[in-house]
Amino acid sequence: MSNVVLKLPEESLLQIISHYGNKKTPAKAQYVRFTAKLTDTVITVYNSGKVMFQGAGAEREAGKWGEASAAAKVSGAKGDTLPDNFAKLSVLGSDETGTGDFFGPITVAACYVPADGVTLAHELGVKDSKLLNDDYMRTIAPDLRSAFEHSVLTLKNEKYNKVQAQGWSQGKIKALLHNQALKHVLRKMDPVKPDAILIDQFAERGIYYKHIKDEKEIIRENVLFSTKAEGLHVSVACASIIARVAFLEEMDRMSAEVGMTLPKGAGKIVDEVAARIILKYGEEYLGRVTKRHFANMGKARSLASRQNRK
Ligand code: MG
Repeated sequence: MSNVVLKLPEESLLQIISHYGNKKTPAKAQYVRFTAKLTDTVITVYNSGKVMFQGAGAEREAGKWGEASAAAKVSGAKGDTLPDNFAKLSVLGSDETGTGDFFGPITVAACYVPADGVTLAHELGVKDSKLLNDDYMRTIAPDLRSAFEHSVLTLKNEKYNKVQAQGWSQGKIKALLHNQALKHVLRKMDPVKPDAILIDQFAERGIYYKHIKDEKEIIRENVLFSTKAEGLHVSVACASIIARVAFLEEMDRMSAEVGMTLPKGAGKIVDEVAARIILKYGEEYLGRVTKRHFANMGKARSLASRQNRK
């Protein structure tokens, strides 16, 4: 999917609004002046005078109006359009980890990096997420935690299983944790407010807010969503690292408790370790230390019974 952003004079904006008038859709945010939806392109006119073309036909449509200019974007990122100076703003970012792990807990973090802290975050070692591995993140997380206001929530599997059994989806669980982590950081920062809040998108805005509609306090003001958000503002990268290290620390704690090194993910090695846990402590116990509705449970059970028959 491609994105093209043009900055155009008022005259052209009026032409665009009239040209796409019969494809108009309701504008969803205050800073949006006009939106239209073609079969392969969404056109958004912002109050700032920028026009965003998104979709397979973006370049074709944008080509009718002018030359492209830079907006804050990461190749392939989906979600809200951010101003082109976004990386330099004061932003509260949030991200999570552990959703696909049988043993590891879902962990969500939010972290505030003010405009004058962006350079510091890079100096402390935050870099392209592809270059970050678990060991490296463990070494830089303590500095990030002491440099920036943050909140990190680790959902133990026992609690996860309880709410999952009540019918909560992972989407709902994540949305509630993101909202809570953001709320905690905003409270710590008060009276300072971020220029924007950026959530690494795991659900569409409407679905996210549906999940948390019954919460007492819902963080809505200035909230933006984008996938690949760790590349759009360093605060999300920091949140992602802080969440990951909390996840690893909980894995360490659990490994010590179980007396085995618990593997990450949900692959074959996970099934094997899970089977050993069944043989040693029983299935009930395994269910308590894992996301027990995962398919790994059944696989571990059959591995363990095969072992027993030997
Ligand atoms: Mg994420």
